[in-house]
Amino acid sequence: MISINSIKNKILIFAILATLIPSTGLGLLSFWQNEAMLTDNVTHQLHTLAVDANRELEYWLEERIEEVRTLSTSNTVINGLSHQAGSSSNNRSQTSQALPYYLQLVQDKLSPLLQLAVLNTSGKIVASSGAAPAPVILPNPWPQSATTDGIIIEPPHWNQSHHTTTLTLAVPVLSLDNEILGALVAVVDLGTILPSLKYAAKLSSGDVLLIDLAGNPLLGTHHRDAVFTPIARQVLQRLRTEEGKPLTFEGHLQNTVLGLALIPQTLPVIVVVERDRADIYAAWSAFRNLFLALMGGLTLLVAIIAWRMGHSIVIPLERLTSAADRIAAGDLEIQLPVARRDELGHLTQVFNQMTGNLQRSRDEFEAASQTLQKQNKLLETLSITDSLTDLYNRKKLDDILADQLARFKRNQRSFAILMLDIDRFKKLNDTYGHLAGDQVLASVARTLFSSIRNIDFAARYGGEEFVIVLPETTLSAARDMAERIRIQVHGATYQFNDQSIAVTLSIGVANSRSSDESADAVLARADQMLYEAKRSGRDRVHCTD
Ligand code: GH3
Ligand code: MG
Ligand code: MG
Repeated sequence: MISINSIKNKILIFAILATLIPSTGLGLLSFWQNEAMLTDNVTHQLHTLAVDANRELEYWLEERIEEVRTLSTSNTVINGLSHQAGSSSNNRSQTSQALPYYLQLVQDKLSPLLQLAVLNTSGKIVASSGAAPAPVILPNPWPQSATTDGIIIEPPHWNQSHHTTTLTLAVPVLSLDNEILGALVAVVDLGTILPSLKYAAKLSSGDVLLIDLAGNPLLGTHHRDAVFTPIARQVLQRLRTEEGKPLTFEGHLQNTVLGLALIPQTLPVIVVVERDRADIYAAWSAFRNLFLALMGGLTLLVAIIAWRMGHSIVIPLERLTSAADRIAAGDLEIQLPVARRDELGHLTQVFNQMTGNLQRSRDEFEAASQTLQKQNKLLETLSITDSLTDLYNRKKLDDILADQLARFKRNQRSFAILMLDIDRFKKLNDTYGHLAGDQVLASVARTLFSSIRNIDFAARYGGEEFVIVLPETTLSAARDMAERIRIQVHGATYQFNDQSIAVTLSIGVANSRSSDESADAVLARADQMLYEAKRSGRDRVHCTD
């Protein structure tokens, strides 16, 4: 099944239709016209042939009647009949010798006459040219009906004894006082008309066939070997009713013919003229077949060209489409080969340029995006980090505490806070300088950071104060951790300009309670504990319990 959604098939169908429609249309038109003209011409020729054949038949018959009539007026015939009627037996025997001899002589001279016989008024044969004359039955009533110049007694038929088609012709023999003495009867060879018919047939390049009224062939101008079969009854019927009109029918040689019939006035026969249909249209069909073959070839050629054309358009388009699909899927590493110099080649070139531009833009965008991400990350870190200690700043601490309180409200698992303050830091500043103070602050912060767990948070609360948040931690665990940190700081010495500086921490510990409305409440308790630690001597841990 050819899909008409494909460009290739559309081009193919268009090309085939564009070839087939005009050429087939014109071809058919010209064939119809040619066939009509040919049929007209042949019909005209056949009609001429039929008229010619009919005329030949009339001439021929007139000649035969004339011959027999002339013979009937000869003295030998008249005398022979009159003596037969009224003379002596001696005279009669003279006549009986002279008349047959005369008839024999005439018959030999006139080739169409196969047999001549003289009959008396009662229809008895008086003399005959043949040794055994065929019986002749005169029409009834005789001689009253013998008023015409010539009477055909027997219509033409195949005569077995003469091996030809014959007809029997009779003319009355009149005495000098115009009294009917008898009749001169001639058996005439219809075959002698054949040369004239053949000549006419040759001129019109058709065939002439004489058939009797029952459709049996009598003679024809076809070649000798032709076997004449009787014309079918229906065909005969049509030929007779549509006299003079061209018909297509099965001829007596059992071939399909174009033919027509004429019925002569003078003889009880039908003149059929015909021409083999295959013969008539042979040149026409050869031309038609050539045209069809040419059309087929042309259509095939056009189809191949159209297919190749479609192919040459669709393949680059398919390549472009699949490349576009890959680009849509994010793959920009595509360069299509540019092998053509036409519009598609240009399109491919532009496509490659577009892909290149896209790829560059994407690389630039990705680089910019990465930088931006880094900067954002840095900004974010800066916004939550204390710059001196690198611990979380106060703002971030607020967020952590709020989050921890919310979690505590959800899961009831308490979190703890350590609030740490460096002891007598003012004095440290005063003794070693503000810079040394800063460095100590940073170093203590590192100690704190290294002492806590991954899940814990350490922030600079302000000045030399720090807060450590311990999620999901009991008060005693928090106190233990505070103690560990205190001991670690206590044990450490911090270097500044070759001077060792000792630092201690006071730490207040508190944890969250269900009654806490905000994280500030926990902070306040831790601060209270820090105050307690300071008050009771510093360098110690104080816990709410
Ligand atoms: P104590 O806590 O033991 O009661 O005594 P203290 O001397 O530490 O008490 P106080 O809290 O009054 O003093 C804190 C001092 O810390 C005040 C200020 O000069 C100093 N300080 C605060 N922030 C910084 C800082 O960023 N760098 C330095 N070098 N010193 C700071
Ligand atoms: Mg302080
Ligand atoms: Mg202090």
